[in-house]
Amino acid sequence: MLQLATQVALLVVGFASTPGSVEVVLLEPLAAATDHAPPRFTRVVDAARIETIHGWLEHPCARRALALYAMAADVRAARDPAYIRVPYPIALVPGGNHADAGYIEVATDGTETTCDVPFIKLDPSAEAFGRTFLHESGHVALGIVAGARGIPAEPVASIPHTVTAITDRSTAFNEGYAIHLEAIAVHLGEDAGAGPRDRHERMVFGSDRPSESEYFRPAVDFASYAQPRARYRMVRDGEFAFAPASQCDGYLRAQLDPARDGASLLNADQMVASEGFAASSFFAFVMRGPTLPDAATIDARERRMLEAAAEMFATRSPDPSAPLLVDWWTTLLRSADAADVRSLADVVLDRCHGAFVDADAARLWRSTYTAALTLDLGSFAPAELKRARANWRDRLVADPGLLASRLGAVVPFHVPDVEIAVVAFGGAAPLSFDVNTATEGVMRSIPEITADDVTRWSDERARQPFTSADDFLARVAKDTAFAAKLRPGVPN
Ligand SMILES: [Zn+2]
Repeated sequence: MLQLATQVALLVVGFASTPGSVEVVLLEPLAAATDHAPPRFTRVVDAARIETIHGWLEHPCARRALALYAMAADVRAARDPAYIRVPYPIALVPGGNHADAGYIEVATDGTETTCDVPFIKLDPSAEAFGRTFLHESGHVALGIVAGARGIPAEPVASIPHTVTAITDRSTAFNEGYAIHLEAIAVHLGEDAGAGPRDRHERMVFGSDRPSESEYFRPAVDFASYAQPRARYRMVRDGEFAFAPASQCDGYLRAQLDPARDGASLLNADQMVASEGFAASSFFAFVMRGPTLPDAATIDARERRMLEAAAEMFATRSPDPSAPLLVDWWTTLLRSADAADVRSLADVVLDRCHGAFVDADAARLWRSTYTAALTLDLGSFAPAELKRARANWRDRLVADPGLLASRLGAVVPFHVPDVEIAVVAFGGAAPLSFDVNTATEGVMRSIPEITADDVTRWSDERARQPFTSADDFLARVAKDTAFAAKLRPGVPN
């Protein structure tokens, strides 16, 4: 099973319906060389350590991660004859759980080899080889199919990305893709969670430990920042299509609290900058159907997702403001045959509730929500809604480019006077947002802004997304006190 004592050949089933073999290179940082860029690694040679890691690689999430790596290499090789497959490099770095590209391998005789390939930094622990490994392998897989162009992101938000937040288009696509893999693993029962809070049969009261006491339960998922439970339940249920419930208590609650206002649909620009919404789109593409798809179907759909991503990356602009999620859906719809295109159109239209294609979508949804709220069951699915949804589908099948019709530009502003701080991360960053995606809670974080300003901003944006900073200032901020607080662009 072990090759050259440092490579592990694995039989992969699980994610892939077709068994295959994936080679792994296990690396570790050179002593006192961890801060170098690119990082310098040497191969793990300790046989007992390799055997331990081999055991961790049997986790269903790890097997899915390895199969995904092989699938991404297949997709890339099919498009790029010059692509050279390499074993999956896994660098065992304490606490370093993220995907990266480019490292230097130092052999025992001191010879250095530059390896300009995607790799993963993973904490050497059994836990890291579960959902974390799968998530980060999602980034590695997208990096492989993106090829040399990469997936450039231009951060707009004041905080690191997280599933509940609206950040920027590239981040949302890349993170949403990685999160959908975690949601699938939980959906299929491959990762039920290992912590006390994941075990619902336990109901512990009176304990001072946040990880187990019911007192802390409403905040404990939230306190992890990663919010692993929201990453499944809210992604499965498509809840990130709706505005945050908290609109009056500052930037962090608006961005981080998972509670939603189910009556208020986000706009198209907000959806393409939401990693939770992107994850729910990818998840729906794979898991759609009246019964659980079998392994072969899941495998084929995951491959098709990566093929569409590769096609999109090869043909669309590398501009970080490109609306990748909409470009990806458009690519899929254009490549679908007649039998499939209607069902794919239904998935994307139901996930966005029509927001990508219809200026009236938010009103239609609110009246549906209100009818349910008031038990006005005669109005719950009215003929008007039925006609609208049929019309959306017909128009989208005829022209997949329609998905981009409601999108505006990315128009960032920041407020140097207001600092946003998440204590555990240290430091602070100025309040920063895209005027086409800021939720009302984010708008209200700007000093001197009035209720009328917020209403005018929302109404003008719904009428027509802003095309530039000047357009925003002219339509919303003219003769206002809050305009003096704003600076165009992202903070330096
Ligand atoms: Zn990630």
